[in-house]
Amino acid sequence: MVIAHLPAGYLLTKHLQNRFHTTSLLWAGLLGSILPDFDILYFYLVDAQQVSHRSYITHWPLFWLGVAYLVLPFVRIWGSRAAFTACVFLFANIGLHMLLDSVMAPVYWLQPYSEESFQLLKLKYTHAYSFWLWNYMAHPAFLMEIAICIAALLARFTQSVKYLHFREKKA
Ligand SMILES: [Zn+2]
Repeated sequence: MVIAHLPAGYLLTKHLQNRFHTTSLLWAGLLGSILPDFDILYFYLVDAQQVSHRSYITHWPLFWLGVAYLVLPFVRIWGSRAAFTACVFLFANIGLHMLLDSVMAPVYWLQPYSEESFQLLKLKYTHAYSFWLWNYMAHPAFLMEIAICIAALLARFTQSVKYLHFREKKA
């Protein structure tokens, strides 16, 4: 997944905001939706693209599950309600990131206990272009990313319309 992590994070966080009865902390969800991909900097700048960045610990679901297991109770007991909610938004979106990555790319769900990776769709790309991204974008599977982007835009747009309607009613 290349362009839809952030829009998907927006959709999940809007849902979570409703569940937690808040209109804030969107930033925490959006940050979580792309946080694992910060390892791309290491991939390009340090590791010289030796192995897939999805094999790094920052893309191991069990690593994030462990971090959430340690952090959430701590924040629940000693932190504020807003800090706990922000952490829930963050970790939920990291989980969503792993699920979405698993659709079209290998993700090491059982690392460090197993080297086996899991991938929902094994896609066959044409090699019409020398740059991998253009080949990926030419594949029909890329439509899934576009659909997520459109869904997020629609959600954002309808929310704006509702907000304007609410303001008109109040005025
Ligand atoms: Zn990723």
